[in-house]
This record gives sequence, C-alpha cells and structure tokens, in this order.
Amino acid sequence: MSILANKNIFVTGGSRGIGKAIVRTAMEEGANIAFTYLNSEEEALAFAEEMSSRYPSQRCLARRCDVTDTEAMEKTIKELITDFKQIDGLVNNAGITRDMVLARMSREQWDSVINTNLGSMFNATKPLVLQMVKQRTGSIVNISSVAGVYGNSGQSNYAAAKAGMIGFTKALSAEVAPYNIRVNAVAPGYIQTDMIGVLDHDTLNYMRDRINMRRLGTVDDVAPLVCFLISDKSLYITAQVVQVDGGITL
Ligand code: NDP
Repeated sequence: MSILANKNIFVTGGSRGIGKAIVRTAMEEGANIAFTYLNSEEEALAFAEEMSSRYPSQRCLARRCDVTDTEAMEKTIKELITDFKQIDGLVNNAGITRDMVLARMSREQWDSVINTNLGSMFNATKPLVLQMVKQRTGSIVNISSVAGVYGNSGQSNYAAAKAGMIGFTKALSAEVAPYNIRVNAVAPGYIQTDMIGVLDHDTLNYMRDRINMRRLGTVDDVAPLVCFLISDKSLYITAQVVQVDGGITL
C-alpha cells in the first residue's frame, strides 16, 4: 500500500530541487499534489504535465504564486481548498539564499531571505491550518536547514530565517496537537541543487570534509523523509527537527 494514497498535499516551490523531488516522491506514494512556483514557469508546467500523465488517476497542479505575497497565497489556497475539499499535508519548502557577511549585507538581502523563507510560513500555513483544524487532521513539514541549527558564516539572514522556522514549528505544534495536526521540521545539510550551485569548488570540498559521510546529499535523501512525516506512518511524531545531513559538523 502506498503511504500517501488519497492524500492531498500542497508544496511550496515544487518547480526545482528538493521541492520537485518531494512532489515526485509523494506522487509515487499515491498523493494528489498542488505546488507553487515563481520564476520557473516552463519547468513547472512541464513537470506537472509529466506527473499527470505518469499517474493518470492522481492530480498534479502547478500554480504560479509568490510565497511572499500574503493575499495571493490566501487566494491560491482558498481555490485549492474549494477544489480538493480536504488538504492533508503542507510542505513549506520554497526558499532562497542571499549570502553575505553581515557587515556588507544590504537591507534587500536581509528582507528577501527573511520574507521568502520565514514570512512564507505565515502566508501558507495560516489559511491551511484553519482548514486542518476544521478537518481535525493534517501534517505540516517545514524545510529548515542545518544553518538554522548551528548557524553558518555569511548566512546570518538565512540562519535567522531557518532558526525562526524551527521556533515556528515547535510553537505551532503545541497549538494544534489537540486537533490531531502534526508539525515537524526537516533540516537538510548540503544538498545538490541549484541553491548550492552558486558555491565554488573549494567551498564545496571544504564542506564535504566536514560531513562524516564525505558526500553531499541528494534530493532523494530528503524527499522520502518528508513523505514519511506527512503520512500516517508517523502519527505520533510532532514538534521534531530531523536533520538530513550525512553527519555534518559545521
Ligand atoms: P532551489 O533553489 O533548487 O529551489 C527553490 C524553489 O523555491 C524553486 O522551486 C523556486 O521556484 C521556489 N521559490 C523561491 N522563491 C520563491 C517565491 N518567492 N515564491 C514561490 N516559490 C519560490 O532550492 P532547494 O531545492 O535547494 O531548496 C529547497 C528548500 O530547502 C529551501 O527552503 C532551502 O532553504 C532548503 N534547504 C536547501 C539546502 C541545500 O543544500 N540545497 C540545505 C538546507 C535547506 P522558482 O524556480 O519557480 O522561482
């Protein structure tokens, strides 16, 4: 039996990287998916079409929506609830980095990272948690980072946002546990996506040396865990932060 059969799941930032792998794995496990994207329209639409034709009895919807736009997110989620009726899972995945030492960081670099990684949690989660409370069921997974656990030089904006996501996870999980809603965070280490494609060879080698398993992660190291946390296989797991980092020491 597929662990996400008949589950309806909303994923932010499903057009590339980890989010795309979560969509693919969740569909392999029987889910219906709606995911958002912002800039990668061609890739998002082609991916949704590929998934829909590979799994004809399931749904895969791609919606262009900026996670930093509160009203647009509310509208998108309202439409989704009307369409899907029940939303069983939310994955807050969309994120960006704008790395810079704080002394040289612009206000724009700070705001864009905080708004995209952390502000988006309010925008996506508030309307969906109201629906989950009505349903008396739901599972939310927030994609944080080891940077939010340990901090990381040059990433004070990103580390603050990702640590904020962990605080949000723990506070919200306490609020909604009585309604049978679970909230967990996943904190990946260095995962091979476009996001770390901006790092140079030497930095990547330096990072690899700090990982006990001596390799960077892949999106498929992360996606199955997220699917497990959304599924009914993890019904007694909430308020946790699970690191997927190959044993990193930052
Ligand atoms: P990618 O850069 O590969 O993908 C980012 C995704 O987020 C894209 O689908 C992008 O959509 C979407 N996105 C970005 N900004 C917005 C926005 N304003 N509105 C809607 N969608 C948006 O990143 P990863 O897959 O690597 O990262 C996914 C998550 O995992 C992030 O939260 C990241 O912080 C976290 N993470 C990643 C790690 C890594 O090493 N890769 C390590 C730890 C955590 P589009 O292209 O359409 O704009």
